[in-house]
Amino acid sequence: MILLTRKADFSAAHFYWNDAWSEAENQRVFGKCANRQGHGHNYTLEVTVKGNVDPESGFVVDLKAMKDIMEQEVVSVYDHRHLNFEVPEFQTAVPTTENIAIAIWRRLAGKIPNATLYRVRVYEMPDLFADFYGEGAGAGRSSI
Ligand SMILES: [Zn+2]
Repeated sequence: MILLTRKADFSAAHFYWNDAWSEAENQRVFGKCANRQGHGHNYTLEVTVKGNVDPESGFVVDLKAMKDIMEQEVVSVYDHRHLNFEVPEFQTAVPTTENIAIAIWRRLAGKIPNATLYRVRVYEMPDLFADFYGEGAGAGRSSI
């Protein structure tokens, strides 16, 4: 078994807000991130798959297919969008780095031929990222 990671970038806007909370509570928890006009980030996505190396091709996965699926399922949906308003999963869930990683996992799971999704890592900034290893990997209660 070997792991292989492919990266992609997208830029998107978001804000943090929970409709179940008062404005004061949103301000207390989310601070300036609660500004409902939103703000942008240049996100970096790393998708890691695991599988066995094909002895003939030397590949674990069809890299072109993996790139196309990441583009189709994630980048084309998220890039240059306002996540809160334009991406269905964030109509209700707060688009934190953590929830974005979970949502991307769900978009990609089972769709990459001949490989198993191992990890989704989302960088919101170079010094902040979230890792998701799938629903069974000790995942607790999640809002999305
Ligand atoms: Zn932000």
